Amino acid sequence: MFESEQMKNRAIPTAKDKTLFTPGPLTTSLNVKQAMLRDAGSWHFEFNEIVAQIREDLLDLAGVAKADGYTTVLMQGSGSFGVESVIGSVVPPDGKLLIVANGAYGDRMVKMAERLRLRHRVLRFPENVTPDPSEIDRLLLEDPEVSDVAGVHCETSTGIENPITEIGRVVKARGKIYIVDAMSSFGALPIPLKNSGIDYLISSANKCIEGVPGFSFVIARRDALVATEGSARSLSLDLLAQLKGFETNGQFRFTPPTHSILAFEQAMRELDDEGGITARCERYRRIHKVLVSGMRRMGFRTYLPEEVQSCIITSFYYPSDSKFSFPEFYQKLSEKGFIIYPGKISQADLFRIGSIGRIFESDIRSLLAAIQETVLEMELCLEEHSFEPSLAAK
Ligand SMILES: *Cc1c(COP(=O)(O)O)cnc(C)c1O
Repeated sequence: MFESEQMKNRAIPTAKDKTLFTPGPLTTSLNVKQAMLRDAGSWHFEFNEIVAQIREDLLDLAGVAKADGYTTVLMQGSGSFGVESVIGSVVPPDGKLLIVANGAYGDRMVKMAERLRLRHRVLRFPENVTPDPSEIDRLLLEDPEVSDVAGVHCETSTGIENPITEIGRVVKARGKIYIVDAMSSFGALPIPLKNSGIDYLISSANKCIEGVPGFSFVIARRDALVATEGSARSLSLDLLAQLKGFETNGQFRFTPPTHSILAFEQAMRELDDEGGITARCERYRRIHKVLVSGMRRMGFRTYLPEEVQSCIITSFYYPSDSKFSFPEFYQKLSEKGFIIYPGKISQADLFRIGSIGRIFESDIRSLLAAIQETVLEMELCLEEHSFEPSLAAK
């Protein structure tokens, strides 16, 4: 049978994966991948010790302690499972959830609330604008039935960084429970848990901690969680039951993501070796800065105003040249070994480039060179900037 050149090439195993410039799953270190080459019995004490250690290390990383009343719950599944677990478990039957949304992940929480038939309200802001705490305050004053407020830290759909601490002050001043989706920021951006009044912070294994997919985790105020007894609307995503499992026999209630836990243990070690949150944040910021200035030099424009742009992921407008096609652009970059990400908002044609994961400045410089080459191949005409807008040191 005749095989095309392409088919033949595809059959050649390569040792190297394409580099991911995505919001997760991300490029991980070789040691993180190798940590998974084991079979860990989920009942075995060695595995349970790893789980216990991870739960403690996550509190350390969050800058809180058991003695301050915080605890960690690991939950099987991707990040959304963690969010749904919190929303579906902690809002009391007679409570009402206020969702503050300015992007796709805020909207996902709204869909969860609808599906769970939770009483809820939505306060929406445009995708390039951060939520205004005073508007949240006004709504809480006007609707005293609201018991819980949920928001997103870094809205990965655009890359906007929301003011979770300022929002938290308002939420706590009104005595409400505060839930934060910090999926794409925890481990890289500093989050003052206590000062922000966060009762439940949700993140997952495969974002800034640079582990592999398989579970999410919730850092919770233990008292608040214990007080939710009887509120869970799901069996497998019951957050309090999951905590009780860890506290009684040290185990996940159902099959644990063993390989993902082993990879995570190594990823946490590497985060520590790198110098913790401060150093990781520094690397991501540097990468983001090199990316943005390189893209601007070629004539690409960023979507978000500088003041609200995070260093996690950056949205770029499609070039106005009618020869531009995102699928073709994506394909050509993929053939060169680089994976970027489509946009995720309705109001503008954007693509996204992530600066998180086990990537370095040299990877970004290679990506920029590949983009330049692709622009030439596609014969795209981009407006060249004669000056570079100053980059706030974010
Ligand atoms: C990645 C992410 C999620 C979860 O997405 P999954 O695909 O379920 O892992 C939720 N919120 C934010 C802000 C995210 O970046």
